[in-house]
Amino acid sequence: MTHRARPRILIVGLNFAGLTAAQKLSPCLGVTAVDRCATFEYLPNIHELVSGIKSPANLRLSRRRLLRRAGHRFLQDTVAELDPAAGTARTASGERIGFDYCLVTVGGVNDFFGVEGACRFSLPFKSVDDCAAIGARLRSLAARQRELSVVIVGGGLEGVECLGEILRRYRKRRGLRLHVVDKSDRLLAAEPAALDREIRRICEPLPVRFHTRRSVVSVAEREVRLDSGEVVGSDLTIWTGGARAPETLPAWGLTERSGEWAPVRDTLQSALYDNVFVAGDAAELGKPITKQGYFAIQMGEWAADNIRLTARGLRPRPFRPSRRPTLIAFGDLTTFLVVGRKVIAGTALAAAKEGVFQATMAGLDPPFRPVSFVALQERWWSGFGGMALPTVISPAAFLRLGEVRLLDG
Ligand SMILES: Cc1cc2nc3c(=O)[nH]c(=O)nc-3n(C[C@H](O)[C@H](O)[C@H](O)COP(=O)(O)OP(=O)(O)OC[C@H]3O[C@@H](n4cnc5c(N)ncnc54)[C@H](O)[C@@H]3O)c2cc1C
Repeated sequence: MTHRARPRILIVGLNFAGLTAAQKLSPCLGVTAVDRCATFEYLPNIHELVSGIKSPANLRLSRRRLLRRAGHRFLQDTVAELDPAAGTARTASGERIGFDYCLVTVGGVNDFFGVEGACRFSLPFKSVDDCAAIGARLRSLAARQRELSVVIVGGGLEGVECLGEILRRYRKRRGLRLHVVDKSDRLLAAEPAALDREIRRICEPLPVRFHTRRSVVSVAEREVRLDSGEVVGSDLTIWTGGARAPETLPAWGLTERSGEWAPVRDTLQSALYDNVFVAGDAAELGKPITKQGYFAIQMGEWAADNIRLTARGLRPRPFRPSRRPTLIAFGDLTTFLVVGRKVIAGTALAAAKEGVFQATMAGLDPPFRPVSFVALQERWWSGFGGMALPTVISPAAFLRLGEVRLLDG
């Protein structure tokens, strides 16, 4: 490959991995970044839109503003075609973009697993708009009717955090029934079993029923049918069932089969094309790493460095992920910190989860300019303010702050 003085770099997808990469790349390079949406979305805290303790604005950042600050071009559009061999892409609005290197960070898409009626009658849980819509629907249902049954499909991280937020706001409301359905034999199946036990213990006095080892076979307007034959009445069905690889990956030649994530070498270069790097959830690395925001950020930074090295004719470096503890919120009832197989639980840990959110947002949008400083202040007030006020005014909540404990594995 010939090395241009000012290589043209195209980034497709501008959330955790893509935005971090763009901010790492020098403005001296010819960087164009394309995303179909105008704003970056902080997905790990979107469950808080369900209870309304955060607003959509708290979780979003303007991509145009951040890219302008980084000295790059932002295009709000969808990449419809990508031809790695020719080094060209075409957007849905018809713009043709030539590139020397492309970074693909398109993430995953919601998966309804072909369940009958799921796409039509359940609300997905994958974006700020999705969760804001769930929050609005819950408020309207709670205001209109006495009996209210909500089914959450999926008892993984998203399902558990969603349940926690509904309990935060509505657990004292009479007539509420909550159902969580998961095909595993326990909640948060990828995490230590202590989490499942603790969540069930907390929920014992609450109107929650767990349907584990059960799959949803169909969803209708007012009911969810399980593989056991049981039919659960549902005024609102929330689908947190999982993510799959987007169809763009095989269409662009980055995987051989539909439904597969794009295989990458340890340098994050596509296994099939030298001039394409793939980072974040879309990448299938040989190492067993989970699809997490912090890995997407690390991969984005690493891919940017490797593109820079490759463009200068140097050897790209193998990616070395560094694992972080996982923080799982359960509304205002508790927060879990998972370090390897150890689990610590306590309401005070909610401040740690909020701290990660605040630090990541401030890192992506440093408060050196008035617009960024105002946005940071708003996030602080709604975040730490919204958390501190109910704790200070409720003696029971204040006393619970001291109850941080290690759970038995
Ligand atoms: C509800 C929820 C809770 C989560 N909680 C946590 C958590 O607590 N901790 C954690 O670490 N991680 C969490 N995650 C996972 C984390 O959000 C993802 O790992 C992370 O978002 C992946 O980043 P990414 O940049 O690879 O992809 P994404 O964030 O999915 O971004 C992909 C981007 O590509 C764009 N795009 C896609 N196709 C095209 C196209 N053809 N043209 C233009 N643009 C395109 C999309 O618009 C999007 O902006 C959670 C995820 C969800 C959904």
